[in-house]
Formats: sequence, structure tokens, C-alpha cells
Amino acid sequence: MADPDDPFRTARDAMVQEQLVARGVQDARVLAVMSRTPRHEFVEPSLWAHAYGDHPLTIGLGQTISQPFIVATMLQVLALQAEDTVLEVGTGSGYVTALLSGLCRHVYSIERHAALAQQAEAQLRRLGYDNVTLRVGDGSLGWERHAPYDAILVSAAAASVPEPLFRQLREGGRLMIPVGSSEVQDLQLLRKHLGTRVVQVLDACRFVPLVTGTPLKASS
Ligand code: SAH
Repeated sequence: MADPDDPFRTARDAMVQEQLVARGVQDARVLAVMSRTPRHEFVEPSLWAHAYGDHPLTIGLGQTISQPFIVATMLQVLALQAEDTVLEVGTGSGYVTALLSGLCRHVYSIERHAALAQQAEAQLRRLGYDNVTLRVGDGSLGWERHAPYDAILVSAAAASVPEPLFRQLREGGRLMIPVGSSEVQDLQLLRKHLGTRVVQVLDACRFVPLVTGTPLKASS
């Protein structure tokens, strides 16, 4: 899928070694998918030189792709299996969608900004990611039609865990979500065990807010 001759291979390998392996990310599938996924393709060319740096990246409309280490941590803790069906809330640029695509059977992803969703869709198609289905909408409501999900990944911060998301998990399913105020949140992993929530609190983090209500149209 990724071009083996691409000029960012060295930068991407350094990202994996220095930011992920050196800080304890060990999951071989997560490291492999982050080694081959062209993060620069999901941002503007003016940012390409910084695309593999140890920081978030701006994707427009006030949104960001998280720092590589945070993304890798979320993916590692979710422990995705090749046959899993995953729901992503907050498609943004489509970078995390591309990573999920390489780790599971199918990704359903929801984004509230139509302009971002259109751009992500075009980029994912162009790069050949064909096991992803995108939609514009309010992801806090989940996507009932394809439920139950083996895993749900939310890339925006919620004041509390939206009930529909937990409901749309299968028994034994996992939900990764940043929960807290707009300033600081805890990354939480919720597991559905006998229908109830088992919560594991991971690192402190800072995501853009999960905004509920009517999604935003692209301006024409
Ligand atoms: N993972 C993304 C980054 C996401 S930033 C990437 O790799 O690029 C968080 C995204 O969540 C933003 O694009 C924002 O518009 C979106 N978002 C916020 N609230 C949302 C909601 N209720 N439903 C769907 N998307 C939402």
C-alpha cells in the first residue's frame, strides 16, 4: 500500500525507533503498521518535513492528528485482532483510519466535519485502503447499523462516555476514549464484561473536544 521508495522511509523508521520502541511500545503489529503508513500523506505538503516529529499535526478546521506515541499507545492497548470490526469516532485526516485498516477486518469511521471527511475519503481511496467506510455525522451516537463492534476508538475528548458507544460494543469488546475537561483528560479503556463497564485509566492526554449535535457541512 505504501510506496517502498518513498523519501520519508528514514524519517518514519526513526519515528518508530525513537518515539515508540524507545518508550516501550512493543506490539509488533502496531509497530509494523506505523512503519508502513505514510503519515505525511494525511497533512498538507507544507507540513511534510515535520510529519514524523514527536508532536501532533494540524489538519485544518482547528483539528489535529495526535502525536505518534499517543496513537501507538491507543492502538496497542486496544489489542486489535485481524478479524475485528472497529468503529472510529473522529476520522479527521484519515491517518488513524489507515492504521486501523491495516490492523483489522473493517473500519467504520464517523467525522462531523464534512470537509475533513471528504478529504480523508479521497486520500484513503487514492492510497488503496479499501476496508474502510466513512460517514459524516455525530459519532457520539455511534453507528447502530454495523454494531456490535469488537472495538471502538474515539479520537476526541468527551466529558463522559457516550452511552450509545458502550451499548454498541459486543460482549468482551473494548472502547478507547479520552474522558475529562477540555483542558486535560484521562485516556480510558472500557471493556464490556457481562454487560458492565470495566474501566482502566491510562495516561493523561489532551485531545480536541468531541462536539455533539448536528454535523458541519462543507462550504461550497
Ligand atoms: N484521528 C484523526 C484526528 C482526529 S482530531 C486523524 O488521524 O487525523 C478529532 C476529530 O474528531 C476532528 O476531526 C473532529 O472534527 C472530530 N469530531 C469531534 N466531535 C465529533 C463527533 N461528535 N462526531 C464525529 N467526529 C467528531
